[in-house]
Amino acid sequence: MKIIMLGPPGAGKGTQAKRIAGFYGIPHISTGDIFRANLKGGTPLGMEAKKYMDQGLLVPDDVTVAMLLKRLEEPDCAKGFVLDGFPRTIPQAESLKEALAASGKHIDFAINVDVPDEVIIDRMGGRRACVSCGSTYHIAYSPPKTEGRCDVCGEALIQRDDDKPETVGKRLDVYHEQTHPLIEYYEKDDVLDNVDGTRPMDEVFDHIIELLS
Ligand code: ADP
Ligand code: ADP
Ligand code: ZN
Repeated sequence: MKIIMLGPPGAGKGTQAKRIAGFYGIPHISTGDIFRANLKGGTPLGMEAKKYMDQGLLVPDDVTVAMLLKRLEEPDCAKGFVLDGFPRTIPQAESLKEALAASGKHIDFAINVDVPDEVIIDRMGGRRACVSCGSTYHIAYSPPKTEGRCDVCGEALIQRDDDKPETVGKRLDVYHEQTHPLIEYYEKDDVLDNVDGTRPMDEVFDHIIELLS
């Protein structure tokens, strides 16, 4: 099963993608997580990505596509995957389609997690992240068992620099301009499904599983 998660930053794509991946035993691939891991490791890719991420802008398509396609060549992707945060532009979607088509494959589902901008601001403000293992929390809606510590690995939780209010507005603008057109793109491919992302996490997940089954 090859699945794409669509939706604005902070819609709950990552939250749901992790659960879908666990449910079907397929990898969860987040381009944001890969960039942040590179940043933490101080790699050239990380340094390059940081220039854009800090400003709430997208990392250029060539860099992002090359990185993602390389990841899809790993053996664990053979039985499918959940893409979270990719594609984010029409050219990225086209590159993905071409690469899959080269081996007779295609995307099976594009799940659009629909959440209005007002809700996004609240979600991003309360999001806390573990840079070690990629787990995500919300101070009100999904708090860790011990304040400020990751339930999974015990590391200190951080507020991402790009989740601060100054950057969130920019990221939403970028979403509306560059990423939102993908909804129509996947609608035309007849693989789009919408879910109401303002519902509680468990309900959103149940709805997604219903659509995928
Ligand atoms: P969120 O989960 O809030 O949507 P991500 O972790 O997916 O945020 O992405 C964080 C940042 O990483 C983005 O603002 C962007 O700078 C960069 N990024 C992630 N995925 C992509 C992509 N597919 N294309 C370009 N930039 C990306
Ligand atoms: P994305 O990957 O789309 O950027 P996340 O999965 O990181 O979004 O979720 C953004 C924030 O909102 C996180 O703090 C997360 O815990 C919280 N969140 C996710 N889904 C829901 C939901 N259905 N209701 C309330 N809060 C949610
Ligand atoms: Zn952790």
